[in-house]
Amino acid sequence: MNVGTFDGCLVAEEFSYGCTGIGTALEGSGLGQAPVIAFGTKEQQKKYLGRLVEEPLVAAYCVTEPGAGSDVAGIRTKAEKKGNEWIINGTKMWITNGGIANWYFLLTRTNPDPKAPANKAFTAFIVERETEGLTPGRKEINMGQRASDTRMITFEDVRVPQENVLGKEGEGFKIAMKTFDKTRPMAPVGLAKRALDEATKYATERKTFNKPIAEHQAVAFMLADMSIGVETARLAWMKSAWAADHNLPTTTVLASIAKCYAGDVANKCATNAVQIFGGAGFNTEYPVEKLMRDAKIYQIYEGTAQIQRLIISRYLINETTQKNAFSLPENTTELGNLSEIASFRDTLLEHSARSRLRAATADTTCADDALNLLERGDSSAIQRPSLVASHLRRTKKCYRNVVTLVNDRVETPWKKEVCNFLGLLSVCRRVAGTDSLQSLVEKE
Ligand SMILES: Cc1cc2nc3c(=O)[nH]c(=O)nc-3n(C[C@H](O)[C@H](O)[C@H](O)COP(=O)(O)OP(=O)(O)OC[C@H]3O[C@@H](n4cnc5c(N)ncnc54)[C@H](O)[C@@H]3O)c2cc1C
Repeated sequence: MNVGTFDGCLVAEEFSYGCTGIGTALEGSGLGQAPVIAFGTKEQQKKYLGRLVEEPLVAAYCVTEPGAGSDVAGIRTKAEKKGNEWIINGTKMWITNGGIANWYFLLTRTNPDPKAPANKAFTAFIVERETEGLTPGRKEINMGQRASDTRMITFEDVRVPQENVLGKEGEGFKIAMKTFDKTRPMAPVGLAKRALDEATKYATERKTFNKPIAEHQAVAFMLADMSIGVETARLAWMKSAWAADHNLPTTTVLASIAKCYAGDVANKCATNAVQIFGGAGFNTEYPVEKLMRDAKIYQIYEGTAQIQRLIISRYLINETTQKNAFSLPENTTELGNLSEIASFRDTLLEHSARSRLRAATADTTCADDALNLLERGDSSAIQRPSLVASHLRRTKKCYRNVVTLVNDRVETPWKKEVCNFLGLLSVCRRVAGTDSLQSLVEKE
C-alpha cells in the first residue's frame, strides 16, 4: 500500500483522539508486524502479513517478561534448536492483543551464556497462535485503555519450525529494538488534543463568580499550555516519522524524543483537563477521567519515559565523544541540520494539508517563485499551493486569472486543495462568474 510511518502516525493521531484503547489494540498489531515488514523473508511476509490483509486478524509483539521489561537483555524465555525445529519455554507478560492475536513476534534467548553480548544472544521467531504449549492467561484489568487486550502468555515446549526464525539467528535483539524506530513516533497527540478540546468547551460554558471560567487567567493559561504541548508534540512526531521514512541516522533518537515528549504532554493535558472540569472531572459521567487513566500508559509501554531519556542522553554523549575524536569541521553539524530542516519542510509540504497550511504562514518568501512556476505550467509549483496563496493575499492579484490558471494547469488531485487554499470557490461564484472549477471539485 506504500504507506509509510508518517501516514501511519497521521491515522494513529486520529484514533487516539477517539479512544486510545482502540488505538493501542491496532498499534499493538502494528508492533508485531513491523519486524516482519523490516526483516521477514518474502515467504514470511506473504504468509503472515498477507493473512492480516485478507481477514480481520491481529498480531502481537512478545518481548516483556515478568522479570524483565526495561532491561530487555534480561529476558529468560529460551529457544533450543533440535534438528529442524526450535523448542521454546518461558513466560511473556503484558502482551497487547495477547489473547486475540493470530500470530506472535517472539524474542527468545538462544545463547545460554549470560555473558554473551546482546547483539548475538537472542533470536526472534514468528509463532502461530494455534501451537501446542502456547497458553494466553486471563485478560489483565488495567487502569485505562480497557478496550485493549493485555495478557501473560506461557510457552511450554512450544515447537517452532526453522523457517519461522525472523532475520538471522542471534540477531533478535537488534530486530526487536529496531521495530521501535517505526512505532515510537505514533504518539498520543490525539489524546492531548481531545483533552484540550473538552476542557476548552467546558471552560467556556461553566461559570463561576459571574463569568465563564475560561475568563479566569489561571484557567486560560492552562488551556494555552495544553495547546503549546499539542502543537509541539505533533511537530516532534512528524519529524521523527519523516526521519524513519528516510532511514536517517537520527531516527532512533528522534523516535525517543517524540514518544517521551508526547507521553508527558498527554499526561499534562489530561490532568489539566480534569482540573478544569473540577469535581465533574473526577467522575465517570464526564469524558476527561478516562483520558487521564488512558494517558498514563504512554509513559510506560514501548520503553518508559526514563528509558527514552536514557536513549536520548546516550545519543548526545556518543555524538559529542565522536565529534571530539574526529574533530569535525566546526559547522558540519549545523550544515547537516540545515539541509535536514529544508528536506523536512518539503516532506511536510508533500504529506499533509495541515502541515502545508502551517508552512505557508511560516514561509512566504518563495511565493513569487511558486506563482511564476504555476504560470509557466510547471506542476511542481503545486507542491507549494500554500505559498501561492500567501502571494495572492499579499499582492491581491486578479482572481479571475488565477481561476483560469488553476483550471488549466493544476493537476486534478491537487485542484481541490489549491482551491481551498485560495478560497476560490466563493470567488468563482462572485467574481469570476464561472462555476466550472466548482463542478470539477465536486466531482472528486
Ligand atoms: C498495558 C500494557 C501493554 C503492554 N504491551 C506490551 C506488548 O505488547 N509487548 C511487550 O513486549 N511489552 C508490553 N508491555 C510491557 C512494557 O513495555 C513494560 O511494562 C515497560 O517496558 C516497563 O517494563 P517493566 O514493567 O518491567 O518495568 P521495569 O523495567 O521494572 O521499570 C520499573 C521502573 O524503573 C525505571 N527504570 C528501569 N530501569 C531504569 C534505568 N536504567 N534508569 C532509570 N529508570 C529505570 C522504569 O522507568 C520504571 O519507572 C505492556 C505493558 C502494559 C502495562
